[in-house]
Amino acid sequence: MRTRAHYNQEEVDDRHLRVKKAFAALRKQGIYTRQNFWCCQTCAGAALGQYFGTPKGLKWRGYAYWHQQDNVHARTGEAFYLAFGTTKDGDEEAGSKVGADVVAALRAEGVSVSWDGSKHTRICIDEAVARYVAQGVAI
Ligand SMILES: [Zn+2]
Repeated sequence: MRTRAHYNQEEVDDRHLRVKKAFAALRKQGIYTRQNFWCCQTCAGAALGQYFGTPKGLKWRGYAYWHQQDNVHARTGEAFYLAFGTTKDGDEEAGSKVGADVVAALRAEGVSVSWDGSKHTRICIDEAVARYVAQGVAI
C-alpha cells in the first residue's frame, strides 16, 4: 500500500476538488451527497433512511455517497464505487435517473467513471482518480 508521502499533494487536491465540485452540483439538483459516509453500506443506508424521514430530508430526490470501506478499497488500489439511489422507493426510473445525473456531474468535472446504466449497479470511479481522491479524504 502506498502512503500519502508517495502522492503529489497538488494532484490529490485537484482530483478531490473535482469530485467535491461534482457533489456540490448534485446537491443543487436535489441529490444528497456524502464522502466517506459511515463505515459500510448497511450503516449508511440506515442513516439515510432516518434522515430522509425528517423534514430536512424530504427535500432530496436522491443520494450518492461512498463509505469508509470504499475509501480503504480505493487507497489500496481496488475498485472505488459510489452508491446512489432515489428517495422514492421502488421507482425504477427515478433510481436510474439519479445514477445518470451522478455520472454526468462527475464527467462534467473531468472525473472518469464507468456505469452500466442500472440502478442496481454502483458507479465505478476510475482507479487512478480513485486513489488520489481517497488520499484526500481523512479516515
Ligand atoms: Zn457499518
